[in-house]
Formats: sequence, C-alpha cells, structure tokens
Amino acid sequence: MANSGTSDPTTVSGPTPDQDSIQEQHPAAPAADFWAVFESAPDAYLLLAPDPPRFTMMAANEARLRATLTRREDVIGRPLFEVFPDNPDDPAATGVRNLLASLKEVLRTGKPHRMALQKYDIPTPGGGFEERYWDPLNSPVLDEDGKLIYIIHRVEDVTEQVRSGSRLRILESVVTTANDAVVVTEPEPLDEPGPRIVYVNEAFTRMTGYAPAEVIGRTPRILQGVGTSPSTVRRIRAALERREPVRAELLNYRRDGSPFWVEISIAPVLDESGRVLQWTSVQRETTERRQAEETTLRLTHETAARAQEAKTRTEIESVLDKLRESEARYRLLADTIPQHIWTTDPDGYHGYFSRRWYDFTGATPEETKGEGWLRFVHPDDRERTVARWQHSLRTGEPYSIEYRFRRADGEYRWFLGQAMPQHDEMGAITGWFGTLTDISERRRLDEERERRREELERVTESRATLMRGFGHDVKNPLGAAMGHAQLLAEGILGELSGRQRESVERICRSIDTAIRLIHDLLDLARAEAGQIEVECVATDVGRAAREIAEDFRAQATAVGLALDVRVPDGLRADTDPTRLRQILANLVSNAVKYAPQGQVTVDAEIRPSGGPRPGAWVALRVTDTGPGIPEDKREQIFQEFTRLDPEAQQGAGVGLAISRRIARLLGGDLTVESEAGRGSTFTLWLPPAAPE
Ligand code: ADP
Repeated sequence: MANSGTSDPTTVSGPTPDQDSIQEQHPAAPAADFWAVFESAPDAYLLLAPDPPRFTMMAANEARLRATLTRREDVIGRPLFEVFPDNPDDPAATGVRNLLASLKEVLRTGKPHRMALQKYDIPTPGGGFEERYWDPLNSPVLDEDGKLIYIIHRVEDVTEQVRSGSRLRILESVVTTANDAVVVTEPEPLDEPGPRIVYVNEAFTRMTGYAPAEVIGRTPRILQGVGTSPSTVRRIRAALERREPVRAELLNYRRDGSPFWVEISIAPVLDESGRVLQWTSVQRETTERRQAEETTLRLTHETAARAQEAKTRTEIESVLDKLRESEARYRLLADTIPQHIWTTDPDGYHGYFSRRWYDFTGATPEETKGEGWLRFVHPDDRERTVARWQHSLRTGEPYSIEYRFRRADGEYRWFLGQAMPQHDEMGAITGWFGTLTDISERRRLDEERERRREELERVTESRATLMRGFGHDVKNPLGAAMGHAQLLAEGILGELSGRQRESVERICRSIDTAIRLIHDLLDLARAEAGQIEVECVATDVGRAAREIAEDFRAQATAVGLALDVRVPDGLRADTDPTRLRQILANLVSNAVKYAPQGQVTVDAEIRPSGGPRPGAWVALRVTDTGPGIPEDKREQIFQEFTRLDPEAQQGAGVGLAISRRIARLLGGDLTVESEAGRGSTFTLWLPPAAPE
C-alpha cells in the first residue's frame, strides 16, 4: 500500500470534504480514485505532512477514524501528537516517542519503517483511554523527483491478536510449565487403537518417562496396564462417546513399568458446530495422596484393630480378674463354710474338694481324687453309696445320701451328701457340684430323741400296765372295804351308835375318794398310752350340760353357788357323749370346788372361727366367778399332778390333764381364759355335728 502512494496523485478523487483543501495546499495530492481506495482500505491510514515535529494530519480514512474513535474534523489539519498524545494514566507509555522516532527515520532514509508492536492507548469520547495494540508501518510518499511529500502512517489494530496472543502465550506457558501432565489427542478413533497423541507437555515426560517424540502419534492407552481398572476405562470411554468431559482416577504405568495413580480430567475441544476437534486431558499424579490415603486407612484400621484388641484384652483381663476374684471368693467361701464342697466331671470323676475336706480326712488330693474318696466312706455304707451315686450319674437326678466318712483320727462321722448336676446352655451335664454336711451332731440328737421317745413310751406303757394292775389290785380290796362299810352304815350288821355311824360314813367317803382317784389315775394312764377309745356321734350338748349340772346342783347349793345352764336347743356336737360328760363333770366339779363364790354358768354356741383349727366349732363353756387362775399357771394346770394349792388336798391334779387329752382325742381342745379375782372360763371346743 505504501508504494501505492507513489502512484499518480491525480487519480485520487475527492469524495471527502477536505479533498479540495488538501489539493490546494499540496498540489501533488492523490487523484480521486486513490481516495476511494484509501477510504475503503480495511487498514487504518493516516496521511501525514513531513513537517516535524507537527506531522500535520492531512487525511485519515474511515478505518482509521473508526479505529481511533475520532471524527474527521477532529484530526484533519491538526498536529498528530496533539490529537494522539500518550495516555497520561500509563506511565510506561512510549507510543509518542516510538512513533516520532519512526517518522524521523522515514524522513531521514526516505524508506518505509516498520515499528515494533505498539501499545498505544486511545482517548475515548467519554474521556479516559482505551488499551490498544498497534502494528504500525510508516511509508514515505515521494513525488516524481523523489522528494518526500507525505508519510503514510498505516496502523493495524492488533489489540485482539495481542490479547488473544498473550492469552495463548500465557496458556502455552501454563501448559508447558504445569506440574500436571497435559495430553492433547486427535478426536478419533475411540475404538482401537485409540486417538493419537498430538501434544504432551514437559510434566507428561516427567510423570511418565516418555519423551514427546516417543508418544506423539501413539495413543494414551500405552499408559494403561494390568492394574488399570477396566470399569473406569469403560466409564471414560462412555463419556467420550457422548462428547462429555470426564474425571476419573486411574492406575497408569510409566515407561519403566512402575505404576502410578493419576486423577485424569478429559475434555473435548469443540468447534462452533459442536464437532470434536481434539481431546485434552490433564493428569495429576495422586500416587502419594493414594499412598497417604492408603497409609491413613491402613493406620486407621491398624489403630482400630489395636484399640479393639486392647479393649478385648482389657475386657478379658477384667473378666479374668473377676473370675479370679470370684474364684478366690468362691474358694474362700468353699473353704470357710462348715461344709465340704466337691465337684466332679460329667462322669462323676472327682476333681475338686475344698480345703476342709483334706483337713478332715488327712488325705492328699491324689488320694481322694477320682474314686479315691470312696476309701473314706464307712465300709457298711459303701455299696449303698456307689449304687446311689451311679443312679444319679445315670439319670441326672440330684444326689442325696447320708453316710459316714472316716476322719483323720479314725472316727467315722455322719454326713449328708448332696449334689446337683451342672448344665450347659444346651442342657448337657457338664459336671456335678456337691456338698458334704457333717450331720453327726444332728444324728446324735435324733438318735437321742428317738431313744428317749422309745424310753418314754416304754415307761408310759409300763406305768399304764402298773396302774392297771395296781388299780385292779387296789380297787378290788377298796370295793370290798366299801361294801362292808356300807353294811355297817346301813345297820344291817346291827344298830350303830351315833358316833359309830358318823365314823363309818367317813370311812365310806374316804374309800369313795380313793376309788375315784384310782379311777382317774387309771384313766390318765390309759389316755397317755393312747388306750382310750372314743366313739363320736351327734350329741345333744344342752342335754349333757343339764344332766351334769343336776348332778352337781346339790353340791353347789350346799356352798351357796348358783348353777345355770344356757344352751340353745338342738345344739349338737359330733362327739363321744360319755367322754363329753366326763369332761363337763370335771369342769363343773372344779368350779364348785375351787370357785365357790357367786355363780357358775354352763353355756354353748356355734362359733364360726376361733377354735383350734379354722372352721366352725361348738364352744361349750363353764364360767365361774371364783378367784381365777394366775396367768403363769394357765397352761400348767393342764399338766398331770398340778395343783395350785397343794394343801387343798381336794384332788390329785389329774382332772384337767385327762380332760384336755380326751378333748383332743375327740378332735377338739380344752382352753382357759381367766382374770385373777374375777373368775375363769374353761372352753371345750368340739366339732359341730353335721346338720340332720
Ligand atoms: P384336781 O384333780 O386336783 O381337781 P385338776 O387337774 O382338775 O386337778 O385341777 C388342777 C388345779 O387347777 C386344781 O388343783 C386347782 O388348783 C386349779 N383349778 C382347777 N379349776 C379351777 C377353777 N375353776 N378355779 C380356780 N382354780 C382351778
């Protein structure tokens, strides 16, 4: 273009308003057709006068005005650097100086001068400057004589190229110097053998050991190996087919065969139509991170395992401690309690005996182990013991036996041996737990009691026999004496004087008392020997009471005693009527004898409770208003030969004893309530008769 300035200036026509004036001042101005070219040229042109330092702007084309955001009238005829000074906000601005130097160079040499790329910011209409990069070329326009008449200042606005160029350079330097490996491949084929590598950066070489020349033209799949996860590769492949970016972690192999982990990020480079131009993949090595992760994981596992182990150990130890403690306690207990403790295995083979056992037998653990203990069993008890033990082992039934064991001093002691089978959670017998309780003392007491009981029985029996014999022996002569005394008393053997009769009557009374006494004693003896027989029938209690009261009425009246019977009609007991009368007679007789003041009442009623056993009872009572019976004597009076006033000589002290025995034989009881000085109430409890 610069050279076009040297063409015939007459061809430049003047569509612009300034054309005429330019031509006026500079006769060599280009012809009109050149103006058209000048105006429509895509590059920015400025026609400068060679009048330094003004460099008056003679003409500017549309592109130039557009590029510099100026209007023609603002620039034409004005000095270049007045309109386009340096950006005052840019202290590094060198635009004016460089352009001036270049223009001077053109003036000096008469040759075009290409300036270096210029940063030459331009003022904006709203004030301020806009960053711009320019690629300027200053060319001389010479006339026919070779005289420089203009300088054409052509500038190409390369701001865009500079911007994108620098971005590219930045990107390039980033890619080149990045620590992450960058691989660029062709778009296809995704099938075998895979897209070919067109670019790798330095980091790729560092990471893989492959120089660019070794891999360009080959596929990134050369990095894969046996450890590379096929499922991850499949996932990447699927994303590529969908032309989508993908991220994955993959095990790759270096040139020397060593594996390394990478985090890979693949993205398509698309053109405007969405076609894949290239694939870029950025790979970051994660081996260390993975190793760290794996180490952390392993450490975590190990720590957890160790903690668990420690915990388990602590638990076991605490259980053991507890066991030891409980075993110690158990042994202490076993050694302390007054029993021998032993255990056996499921077959009955003895393993453990508490210390006491060894103290007792004087045996060593060896001697008494297994079946050794049998040697200490009394020979007479052995057979029985073995049989009983075998039975328990066979059936699992608890074992219980009394047998004798030989003490260290040779004496045999009685023991109660007991054992229970121990079961596991499945119910199988795991062993036996047994105890040996020394029952020698108990057995001695039992034997003693038994001996006494037998002796008592024998004594009672012999006393009963004695009494019976004695009774008969005495009763007969007494009966004979009575008979004779009565013959005398009745005057059958001759008339007696008054004093003689009195004496004979006394003899009769004494004999009567003696006979009754003997009768009572015989009764007592029989009762003690359980030889009294009773025959219970439904008995009218009121009638028996009235009969007995009548028997004693004279006697009562004689001592000034009122005697009342208050029994409801039809009250019946299930009892032996003879024995009932015997008891009643005894009670009324006692009342008349020992409580001869006020009055005696015999009454009876059915009581729903309060008897010797639960249920309804007939309570037959004999109440007096006599002296009463002291509290501490109330039980004693029911024992044989007890008399509260031994001097009284009125009885042998057996009446109440016999009465209570008989009452109990009748299925009831005889009790007393009393208040000193106010009287006593004897209650005979009898089972009621069944309703008719
Ligand atoms: P005994 O054959 O001597 O009458 P009991 O066994 O019938 O003997 O009575 C024992 C003793 O109980 C009597 O000696 C008497 O002291 C006392 N006793 C019995 N009944 C009464 C009563 N109703 N009031 C006071 N004391 C009584």
